Amino acid sequence: MSQLPWHSQLQQTLTERKAAGLYRRTRLRDGEQGVEVVLDGRKMLSFSSNDYLGFAAHPALKKAFIESLDQEGVGSGAAHLLTGHSRYHHQLEEALAEFTGQQRVLLFSTGYMANIGVIDGLLGKTDVVVQDKLNHASLLDGGRLSEAQQLRYPHAAMALLHQRLHTAANSRNKLIVSDGVFSMDGDIAPLPEIMDLAEQHKAGVLIDDAHGLGVLGQNGGGVIEHFGLTQQKPILVGTFGKAFGTAGAFVAADEVVIETLVQQARSFIYTTAQPPAIAAATLASLKLVQQETWRRDKLQQLIKQFRDGADQLGLPLMPSQTAIQPLLIGDDKKAFKLGQDLEQHGILVGIIRPPTVPKNTARLRITLSAAHDAEHIDKLLGALEASYGH
Ligand SMILES: *Cc1c(COP(=O)(O)O)cnc(C)c1O
Repeated sequence: MSQLPWHSQLQQTLTERKAAGLYRRTRLRDGEQGVEVVLDGRKMLSFSSNDYLGFAAHPALKKAFIESLDQEGVGSGAAHLLTGHSRYHHQLEEALAEFTGQQRVLLFSTGYMANIGVIDGLLGKTDVVVQDKLNHASLLDGGRLSEAQQLRYPHAAMALLHQRLHTAANSRNKLIVSDGVFSMDGDIAPLPEIMDLAEQHKAGVLIDDAHGLGVLGQNGGGVIEHFGLTQQKPILVGTFGKAFGTAGAFVAADEVVIETLVQQARSFIYTTAQPPAIAAATLASLKLVQQETWRRDKLQQLIKQFRDGADQLGLPLMPSQTAIQPLLIGDDKKAFKLGQDLEQHGILVGIIRPPTVPKNTARLRITLSAAHDAEHIDKLLGALEASYGH
């Protein structure tokens, strides 16, 4: 095939990206996700997954998955609205409605699709969506996909959220959108303040709790349980690819919102339902999330151990009480070099650079899991001590 007219242009952009230290590449994992992984053929101690409770390769999930395969086969074979909605999907929706204390739940095939579907499905031309600037890419994309007016406020700045809502006073419907736990910073959204402002301005609230669900709250109910919200609840997006250890996502809300999404969320309507076995495994996971509270306790102990140790070493911790513990490095190349040095020590962390995070805020994204042990944290701190400042 002859080259496309813009081929050399694309090549140049790639070269520039590489020179700027912003090049991304896929790495190959052999075997199960976990604390010790084999990546590109090398065994590493990993602080680089979102498997916060250690469920991704849990025997109970595997068992549920395999048993349902025998009954249901592999592929769902169709969208939910046709013949793809299995008994397991149905049970999972019911169980999640109970778990979240919301009227109804709708499954989506991924969190990305849930987020674009819920914003685009609920808002139209005369509406406005107001987002935290550090929201996950899928929420920002959902806003852009909808025809609603787009407003953003600086990260967690409630006075400015108030101002934006004031600006939007004449719009038909207003939706405030925020991550529950911010994926690259690990901090928790000021949900009570957001709910107050929403009430004051008659706005709706959508919280994407991908990193809070299963991790925060006594029962793993996430940021909503963390703040003890019982009366007015936001529309909630939860994902299964993180603490739940499986794949997929859901929206929990009242009957009218969910029914609207069934009719209007294109990323729900026009896609194949996930394999029923995924829903079966997620049901098993949901049980463990609620029952095995020790996993959350252990995770909190590890978080404390890491923060205390990093603090003593003078490392640039960020204000996070969650499983996401970034070290703010700033310079892209320095962050990359530090990540490489850690790999020399057999330790894997996320190296996060723009455009995933704002310019000059490159960081190491360290994620902790209930599957880690105290010795793992000691090893990580030892390697950081050896690498940082060199
Ligand atoms: C991971 C993530 C998503 C996307 O979920 P997937 O199921 O992986 O598509 C959405 N929002 C946030 C905040 C996330 O961290």
